[in-house]
Parts: sequence; structure tokens; C-alpha cells
Amino acid sequence: MAKAPSLREALRVRPGSKVDLATFDTGATHGRRKDTAAATLAKDLDRLTSLQDRLWAEGRHRVLIVLQGIDAAGKDGTVRHVMSAFNPMGCPVTSFKVPTPRELAHDYLWRVHPNVPGDGEIAIFNRSHYEDVLVVRVHGFAPKERWSKRYDQINAFERMLVDEGTTILKFFLAISKDEQRQRFQDRVDDPSKRWKFRMGDLDERKLWDEYRAAYEDMLEKTSTDGAPWFVIPADRNWFRNLAVATIVADTLEDLDPKYPPVEEDIPKGFVVE
Ligand code: AMP
Ligand code: MG
Repeated sequence: MAKAPSLREALRVRPGSKVDLATFDTGATHGRRKDTAAATLAKDLDRLTSLQDRLWAEGRHRVLIVLQGIDAAGKDGTVRHVMSAFNPMGCPVTSFKVPTPRELAHDYLWRVHPNVPGDGEIAIFNRSHYEDVLVVRVHGFAPKERWSKRYDQINAFERMLVDEGTTILKFFLAISKDEQRQRFQDRVDDPSKRWKFRMGDLDERKLWDEYRAAYEDMLEKTSTDGAPWFVIPADRNWFRNLAVATIVADTLEDLDPKYPPVEEDIPKGFVVE
């Protein structure tokens, strides 16, 4: 039997391909099993810890991880479960919220650029500049003449970051409409989760089809070789965590970060007094 393709290959949106989220299986597990997932995830998290330590020590590569998804898709959970493998010192997380008046008084990339990763850093965007072709498009916060140009602008911006030494990974967490309903219900019922729920979330939910079209366009127009999108089946948290952890770890492994050489030769068996 042929070896199953890696999740990195299986879930990547190939540049120029069509994306149909209406038929996408948000509960897919790609042959992974829940009962062995915890052990596999633990291994991947160990890989991530070790790779990030070397990446930070080497101070050469810059890595940007973008998380997008509809409300309750699991963006926060992904940060908590996967990125917990990283030393927070080298791993700034930025959550992009409704723009402030000062942010709105500038172009949409103005608030983004200062938060991209520096040498040795893995920066995480919880939402991102993609909101400016998602929520902004769906609600008409900017006219079509403005937002429709942004796909090319974003590709150019990300291309510049890549050319300057940044590795970019973008994850779209895909859940079904019914899974979102259940998660909202959980938030309503569980006092420790209620703070995450706003009645306004239901207005967004009514725009499900409009968001789906906006996500499809985003995925089709902005998945590039240098800055690929991955569509993660995210109805099952265990699979979502496993998929994101594996893809990030495989990518960091390719960068092959190395501890820097010691400045002077330290004699073998040198004793510190
Ligand atoms: P949350 O992720 O639940 O903390 O919510 C953040 C909110 O900010 C979401 O409702 C986003 O749609 C909204 N948001 C983020 N970026 C933008 C933007 N550029 N324009 C308008 N709303 C935005
Ligand atoms: Mg929310």
C-alpha cells in the first residue's frame, strides 16, 4: 500500500486550485485515531519545544503562523494546546480585534506589520489582516473597490516578508455549522465559558453562507508557495491539534535550526570555578 501523504501535503491549498467549503469534511481524520492521538500529539509537542529552542538560540529564521476561522472554530484552543510547546519568550501572540479609531485612520496593514516576527521568533496571529477581506467584505465596512484589491496587496506583503526571511504558515480552522451551534450552546450553558458568547455572535452565524464565500475566495486567491493555507478539519479538537502541531513541526524541521557555535573553543572537561 502506498504511504498516506503527510498532513502537510493533504491539507495544503495548492495555488490556483478551487476550494469548496460546502462539501469539505470538517470531521475528517485522515486515518488518524483518537485513541493514539494523545501520544502522537505529545511527540509532536516535544519536537516543537526542541525546534523552537534551537530556532530562538540561532536567531536567524522568522516564522509567522496565522490562525483564521469562524467564531468558535478553535483559534484560542489551538494557541493553548499547540503553542504551549513554545517558550513564550520567543513566541509573541497577537489577537486582532475590531480596529481602534487610530487603526481605522490608517491602511489595514498598518497595525499588522509591527507584529510580524523578528529573528528567532515564532509569531502567532489570532485573526489577522485577513479580517480585512472577511468581516469587512461580509459587512461592507469597506466598498468592494477597496477590499477586492486586497488579495493582491496581501500576497505582495507576504511575498516581501518571505523574501526577507520569514516562513509563513496559515491555518483555516473549518468547523460545520452544526458544530458551531453546539459550541455556542456550550458557551451559553457553561458559566466558565459564558464570557465568550455574545448575542451578536448569532448575527454573524446568520451570515454563514456569505462568510463561506469570503473564506473560499481568500483560500483560492492567497494560498501561495511561499505562504500556503492549510484547511484543517476542526470539528474534532484532537485532530485539529494534531494536524496543526504536525504541520508546524514538519516545517520547522525543514528549517533545520541549529544551536550557534560557541565563541571560543572550550577545552573538553573544562571546569568552571
Ligand atoms: P474575538 O476573536 O472573539 O476576540 O473577536 C474579535 C472581533 O474583532 C471579531 O468579531 C472580528 O470579526 C473583529 N475584527 C477583527 N479584525 C477586524 C477588522 N479588521 N475589521 C472589523 N472587525 C474586525
Ligand atoms: Mg468571539
